[in-house]
Amino acid sequence: MTIELDMPVVAEKKSVMKVHNFSAGPAILPPSVIEQAAAGVLNFNGTGLSVLEMSHRSKEIVAVVDEASALVKELIGLTDDYEVVWLTGGASTQFFLTAMNLLDESKTAAFVDTGTWAAKAIEAARSFGNVEVLASSKSTTYDHIPKGWSVPDHAEYLHITSNNTIYGTQYHWTPATDKPIVCDMSSDFLSRPIDFAKYGLIYAGAQKNIGPAGTTCVIIRKDMLGKVERKIPVMFDYRTFIKEKSMYNTPPVFPIYVSLLTMRWIKEVGGLEGMAAHNEKKAAILYNEIDQNPLFKGNVAQEDRSLMNVCFVMHNRDLEPEFAAIAKENGIQGIAGHRSVGGFRASIYNAMATESIQLLADLMHDFAERKG
Ligand SMILES: *Cc1c(COP(=O)(O)O)cnc(C)c1O
Repeated sequence: MTIELDMPVVAEKKSVMKVHNFSAGPAILPPSVIEQAAAGVLNFNGTGLSVLEMSHRSKEIVAVVDEASALVKELIGLTDDYEVVWLTGGASTQFFLTAMNLLDESKTAAFVDTGTWAAKAIEAARSFGNVEVLASSKSTTYDHIPKGWSVPDHAEYLHITSNNTIYGTQYHWTPATDKPIVCDMSSDFLSRPIDFAKYGLIYAGAQKNIGPAGTTCVIIRKDMLGKVERKIPVMFDYRTFIKEKSMYNTPPVFPIYVSLLTMRWIKEVGGLEGMAAHNEKKAAILYNEIDQNPLFKGNVAQEDRSLMNVCFVMHNRDLEPEFAAIAKENGIQGIAGHRSVGGFRASIYNAMATESIQLLADLMHDFAERKG
């Protein structure tokens, strides 16, 4: 299937050059979502009120949150064993909330260290129980997903980071274990179908792939909860938010609303299967150019390349500022690599149009012709 997306053009900028937003996050959203979100800020569904000023207890907003949770379930195909909640505090808060809710002090959680975010999750869990790091690719600047490890029997769960936003690696396989997987899916959430039955808990900050910053979607298999002995503060207890349908206190209404709009769009353009096909096609354009181009090279192992964050450098690093300037002149924004890695990172999330990726690939191609 082919999906062609419009370019994100803000109304008052229509006369100026097109901007191609390759930012790693907060990241690109579908133009139609931005438009609907803007309309909702002015007048939400004909209520005469802005979505920003409506009570979260109003029937309209309760319906937004309920539909958002239902759509997560529908898109992934979750069974009733799973609950969906919308929390605040970013994915970073989930680094410790997962351990606080799932790991007793005398018990062990297994982790795989595939990057900065994985390492932060590991550090956060140490405050709550035993942590066993099964494998790490840190010594090679996280240039691959470690393989050949297995989850020990005494582990309560396995924590992984499905897509490593900073380094550009992604799991293209689900770890073989009968332990529940706890997964930070922030930067590839709803980008492809998942074998959800393997997962005990999934969390994703909205701002990478489905919405603005301000909410984190958490999917929890109900049997994961209620097993630890410690007292959990009510605001940090997943059960509070499950019981109150994310409405224990004032939820981040606007980020949830925008996430809902994005999920309606995902459903419309073919669901997670459609997204996966689209994302594979898009990433191939850029990786093919990187592999064929004599000036550029990819940073990570081919088999672990991320379909969301494409990281690359130039063989001659001195040429990088010149190419960065050319990209900028052509409206390409946000392709500087993370400050810890350098080079380039093109984030090509769900909403990124093929046309923008083709433009970047063409500029790389032209640059090589000129230099060659
Ligand atoms: C961005 C990111 C985070 C941090 O998210 P916050 O919402 O800023 O806390 C965590 N994990 C991954 C994989 C990310 O990409």
